[in-house]
Amino acid sequence: MRRISIFGATGSIGQSTIDLIRRDREAYDVVALTGGRNVDLLAHDARALGAEVAVTAYEDCLPALREALSGTGIQATAGEHALLEAAEREVNWTMSAIVGAAGLAPGLHALRHGTTLALANKESLVTAGPLLMRSAHSHGARILPVDSEHSAVFQALVGEDQSEVERVIITASGGPFRDWSLERLKTARLAEACTHPSWDMGQRITIDSASMFNKALELIETREYFGFAPEQIEVLVHPGSYVHALVGFRDGALMAHLGAPDMRHAIGYALHWPERRDLPVARLDLAKIGTLQFEAPDENRFPALRLAREVMAIGGLAGAVFNAAKEAALDLFITEKIGFLDMARIVETVLNDMSSGVSLRVNALSLDNVLEADKEARARAFSVQKTL
Ligand code: NAD
Ligand code: MG
Repeated sequence: MRRISIFGATGSIGQSTIDLIRRDREAYDVVALTGGRNVDLLAHDARALGAEVAVTAYEDCLPALREALSGTGIQATAGEHALLEAAEREVNWTMSAIVGAAGLAPGLHALRHGTTLALANKESLVTAGPLLMRSAHSHGARILPVDSEHSAVFQALVGEDQSEVERVIITASGGPFRDWSLERLKTARLAEACTHPSWDMGQRITIDSASMFNKALELIETREYFGFAPEQIEVLVHPGSYVHALVGFRDGALMAHLGAPDMRHAIGYALHWPERRDLPVARLDLAKIGTLQFEAPDENRFPALRLAREVMAIGGLAGAVFNAAKEAALDLFITEKIGFLDMARIVETVLNDMSSGVSLRVNALSLDNVLEADKEARARAFSVQKTL
């Protein structure tokens, strides 16, 4: 029996992970499940999977969680400290699927206990990539990517010598606004940004896909996880989302990874790695698909990509600042306080301000300096909003 925990169990990735676990219930001993305000779903899954502990991120949700789990013997806990405590429980495999920088500390804690960390929470690599990778290395833990593009690159590299890689291409669907003019993008509404043409995901990443901030985070994620130079990493718009990534080698060969747009693919690969097992994902019928469409991304309409390149050039705390400003700007867009294009304007202003004044270059990233930069960037993003 493999002991596993799922952080962000009530979200889109968490639920897809649980779907795979439930199909092979006997193989897993579920230790911790965590969620947010969706206490009923969390309690339901904790019961169904016989978890040891269910954790809600919010203290005010604890009474409801306790109530929902009464008589089951399943422990109910709440708050940031409880999340870290849950991450300290001995397991073989941990899914990191909390959304946002809130996923960083639990992931780091889990790594310190030598678990294999299936990492969907790309924000932790963007904010603190070197810290996370160093922590995995020094504790003999392993991080497996759970982003469709990064899982694809990882798979294309199996058996290859990474020094022979010339370039890596991650694909982007282009989102719902792929062919919108800059003028029209100004008017993009929340409901329109929440509809993704090919993937079914949580609300935040869906909006990030519409603005291409998701791809911007993924550029940095590729750099931090695999260590490729920024100029080796390219973004290619591919509306169908069948090709997830391509790896180009020194002899000109391009190895592509194709699959249905279903995250159970990347999750299942990380769950069974280094083996491959049957997965309940649709098989591609390429004759039926007929044509694969590709186009270059437009950094003028989607400035997030250009900003990601600046972040990689600055290094240090720039990733933490970029991600936090983006999260704050996204909160403002979700609450309809700013327009769609204002998100990139806010992020760019915060990044410029913070990289010109105090230096974002630090000797070493620590959880403390990352969280401090994160906090300041969020505060600045809210002040920039007032000047718009
Ligand atoms: P989601 O919004 O559906 O779920 C997020 C989960 O995190 C929920 O369980 C929620 O309760 C929990 N959570 C939210 N805020 C929290 C906080 N402050 N503290 C603790 N827990 C909190 O998100 P998702 O779409 O499943 O995405 C999860 C992560 O996976 C993100 O980092 C995202 O970028 C990444 N990812 C998602 C997909 C996808 O298809 N959904 C694909 C690739 C990567
Ligand atoms: Mg992705």
